[in-house]
Amino acid sequence: MSSALQRQANHPPGSHADRQLPRLFDYPKYWAECLTPAPFLPMSRAEMDQLGWDSCDVIIVTGDAYVDHPSFGMAVIGRTLEAQGFRVGIISQPDWSDPQSLRVLGEPNLYFGVTAGNMDSMINRYTADRRIRHDDAYTAGDTGGKRPDYALTVYSQLCKRAYPNSVVVAGGIEASLRRLAHYDYWSDKVKRSVLMDSTADLLLFGNAERALIDLTHRLAAGEPVREIRDLRGTAFLCRTIPEGWREIDSTRIDQPGSLPRHKNPYDAPHPSDCDDAKSQHAAVDAGHSAAPPQPSQVVNLVPDTQAIETDPSSTYIRMPSFDAVTKDPALYAHADRIFHRETNPGNARPLVQNQGKNDIWINPPPLPLETAELDWVFEQPYKRVPHPSYGDAKIPAYEMIRFSVNIMRGCFGGCTFCSITEHEGRIIQSRSEQSILDEVEKIRDLTPGFTGVISDLGGPTANMYRLNCKDKRIEESCRRPSCVYPTICVNLETDHSHTTALYRKARALKGVKKVVVASGLRYDLAVRDPEYVKELVTHHVGGYLKIAPEHSEEETLAKMMKPGMGSYYEFKEMFERFSQQAGKKQYLIPYFISGHPGSGDKEMLALALWLKQNDFRVDQVQNFYPSPMASATTMYHTERNPLRPLNRNNTERVLTARSPEQRTLHKALLRYHDTDNWPLLRKALRRMGRQDLIGAEKGCLVPLESRRERELYQREQRKKQPASRLKKSRASQRGSRGRR
Ligand code: SF4
Repeated sequence: MSSALQRQANHPPGSHADRQLPRLFDYPKYWAECLTPAPFLPMSRAEMDQLGWDSCDVIIVTGDAYVDHPSFGMAVIGRTLEAQGFRVGIISQPDWSDPQSLRVLGEPNLYFGVTAGNMDSMINRYTADRRIRHDDAYTAGDTGGKRPDYALTVYSQLCKRAYPNSVVVAGGIEASLRRLAHYDYWSDKVKRSVLMDSTADLLLFGNAERALIDLTHRLAAGEPVREIRDLRGTAFLCRTIPEGWREIDSTRIDQPGSLPRHKNPYDAPHPSDCDDAKSQHAAVDAGHSAAPPQPSQVVNLVPDTQAIETDPSSTYIRMPSFDAVTKDPALYAHADRIFHRETNPGNARPLVQNQGKNDIWINPPPLPLETAELDWVFEQPYKRVPHPSYGDAKIPAYEMIRFSVNIMRGCFGGCTFCSITEHEGRIIQSRSEQSILDEVEKIRDLTPGFTGVISDLGGPTANMYRLNCKDKRIEESCRRPSCVYPTICVNLETDHSHTTALYRKARALKGVKKVVVASGLRYDLAVRDPEYVKELVTHHVGGYLKIAPEHSEEETLAKMMKPGMGSYYEFKEMFERFSQQAGKKQYLIPYFISGHPGSGDKEMLALALWLKQNDFRVDQVQNFYPSPMASATTMYHTERNPLRPLNRNNTERVLTARSPEQRTLHKALLRYHDTDNWPLLRKALRRMGRQDLIGAEKGCLVPLESRRERELYQREQRKKQPASRLKKSRASQRGSRGRR
């Protein structure tokens, strides 16, 4: 057994026993193995009959259309359980008004596995401005409205209504991001853990293969779900804390109030504080290239003393209760800090939060999959197409990924507006080169319509493949929220040669004409390896390369945990140089977010001017979307900065565009070239005292209005003035005329 798995510690409440889990493919198969695999996981009784199944062991209920492809959660979970010998059925997008829709496959022998789908159902259904979307990329025919709001809760309750004694296991992104009390943008309030409302028996967070496979075997062996309390990556309700556990109040390790100063967890001794890292950061901020990476030595971190004092196998952290975080924004922000501090599987402790009569117990996150395990997950017999019941109806999310290959999981970027790290973790899990190349060949041979172009070879980030902490021991003790912010950690592997080699081999495969890299690029990391950038720019850019500086202003970038513009310029210079060397006309398309916490009118105006100066006219603007559990959402909700030590005496308030008017203005600033936005922008510029930016001169943002527009504007202004001021101003106008 691998060393990682030997270290796996599952800490059941009431027991300190460590239980080692087999690797995913080492479990003895369930007896029904002889009845699997199915060509497609069945969605109807008729399909079950054809397979000779009298029942399903597990039924997955999902808010997405069923696509039998490793990019779709229901297929990954279904196929990996099937490979264990379980019979898995799928109920996709059931009619949530009728419990009968949950009875189509009968009652599962073991449990319903419920997920809202690949996206949080609210993000799927509403725009960043809370408007209803009429499309849904995860539905056949791209039709919106095929899943309920808060789908996880609704489906889970429906399962219980259809079969009151059935076991319900909640999972997927909606479960992950709503496992604790969380701010919900759509209702504009703090909501309880989804476990409370959904009535699910167990919640799985993160990539759940390891927990789910173990759970399913144990349920099949007759263990009651209420007794399975020791699995990493699970959460459940409990009335009493079992004996043998020591509680630490979270305010002892990160203080939200004016209490005596204790150790700040984000001050954990770290190489980012070392002179080397500081000078690199300063160089990048100043717009210079950081020194080329030297073969660096691992820097030993001084261990986090609090982590040593608090053995994760016997200590849990009590977070502020649901009531407390609802009433006190400082405590909410504090809870965010604690949550993000306890995300490393190597040192995270269980989290407990009271919600009324219950406590929510959150076990430490799952251990990352080893390469052989991840390969195994991707090598299941996926058909790589939607279930035939959808006929010719297009599923846009499938159309987008049908010729692409996911090469890794996880992200160590830690961008505060993104929830990938909260879900998949910060440790990169990579597939083997051979497994990826095999998948490219499968696409070539099996996917209808393949023309020789792989549309993406990537993952959550394009260039983190096989980039890990240089030292496992250090990684296990680290509590940094990002490996690349504020500087690239000296312990991080930055050599992209594995990715470069992969690109070369993929494009050399027979029948492959081009391999495009379309996933987001972490350019501050890429510039550390010019050979990689050259390879990317020369062979894998389809004319345009999208990158995401997200903002131009340091203050805002700091709230996003994004690099300064220095690394953008450095990458741009490389991109242009290598494009020219390759004899290609290629363009960088930078992406920006409007309305992000930390960005007021002044910062957005500065960004608009930067865009104008650089002659960028962005087509689409992403308005900040506060997703559950993201740190930027905490800033939006509390106007406090959870990236810094919190203290009631700390008066820092994070600028936050909350009103629809201000959010519209921020969006309009990014689209300064859109004539529809000019009246709004002129008004705002005058209000900000920046009339100098209205006009025909080169440095102006928008042109002057026409004479007619100006008259209308003046009339409008006069209407707004109180009568007394109006009289005065008319009198003064008369006076000045007289003087003339
Ligand atoms: S885990 Fe990341 S941040 Fe922590 S020491 Fe390793 S490379 Fe640095």
